[in-house]
Amino acid sequence: MLYEFRYRAPKTASEMIRLLDDHRDDGKILAGGTDLLPNIRDGNIRPAVVIDAKKIQSADSIAWSASEGLVMGNAVTINDVLRCREARELFPVLCDCARQLASHQIRNRATVAGNVVNASPCADMAPALLCLDAFAVLESASGTRQVPFSEFFTGVKHTVLKAGEFLEKIIIPASAAGARGYYLKLKRIAGHDLGIIGVLMVRRNNGIRFGVSSAAPTPVLVDGMLDKDGVDAAIVKVLAAIKPIDDIRASGEYRAFMASTYIRRLWQEIK
Ligand SMILES: Cc1cc2nc3c(=O)[nH]c(=O)nc-3n(C[C@H](O)[C@H](O)[C@H](O)COP(=O)(O)OP(=O)(O)OC[C@H]3O[C@@H](n4cnc5c(N)ncnc54)[C@H](O)[C@@H]3O)c2cc1C
Repeated sequence: MLYEFRYRAPKTASEMIRLLDDHRDDGKILAGGTDLLPNIRDGNIRPAVVIDAKKIQSADSIAWSASEGLVMGNAVTINDVLRCREARELFPVLCDCARQLASHQIRNRATVAGNVVNASPCADMAPALLCLDAFAVLESASGTRQVPFSEFFTGVKHTVLKAGEFLEKIIIPASAAGARGYYLKLKRIAGHDLGIIGVLMVRRNNGIRFGVSSAAPTPVLVDGMLDKDGVDAAIVKVLAAIKPIDDIRASGEYRAFMASTYIRRLWQEIK
């Protein structure tokens, strides 16, 4: 049952910052609403003010430049990413993860920013952002700061974001363009579902890295591997970095087994 809350829709980042500062304790940001609204409906949170971040000018812009890289405003949806030619051509692993997130209908609403701020261990965009050295640009009344995604997630549904701060944009540096890889996601059903385990393998400049979802309190980055290390060493390194749990979707043991299986498959396929 929904209750009455006030709805605000700032048109500029400075208006957004002022509103967030005024409502540090009772405000919540709304993007696509695919995480926020179920949480309000289920009574998990009860914000007095819902601040829509989608109306800010240029918030829905996704743009590539060789100097800055791929810059995604806070209102860029998962389907906006998939529609962007540069994202598909230069950052195919970002699009692999995007294609695995929910259904077409959800992807039309769900934003990349909302996915990472919600900070579920199974966030499907996180493995790509981790492996591509992406960072978040955070704005508040105290100014701007940039946080790499390797430092962004702090626990289940927790991030470095402070009260009064919002994620204004996500940047994938140009140096990550052309990284090759693939994301394998295990689900209970063939259609859309949250992941039991997700493993992204990426090759960049001869180095190999893995982004793993649904296997620890936060999405996990495991990097610093080379071809000569071999797949068995890679499996040992990834299993040491994750802490899969038992829950309604699967046991921790099965998750670890499937992570190893996926690493072995990806190692053979991504040359
Ligand atoms: C049926 C269904 C299936 C789903 N399947 C998947 C799936 O397969 N994989 C997956 O990863 N997720 C899945 N999800 C979860 C969800 O769709 C994604 O996490 C989505 O990307 C959230 O984005 P949103 O724009 O809807 O965020 P919202 O729900 O609007 O916001 C999420 C959180 O982020 C905060 N927030 C949003 N934008 C900002 C910002 N710019 N700055 C600061 N805080 C902000 C909000 O206050 C809220 O706390 C599913 C959800 C549903 C309902």
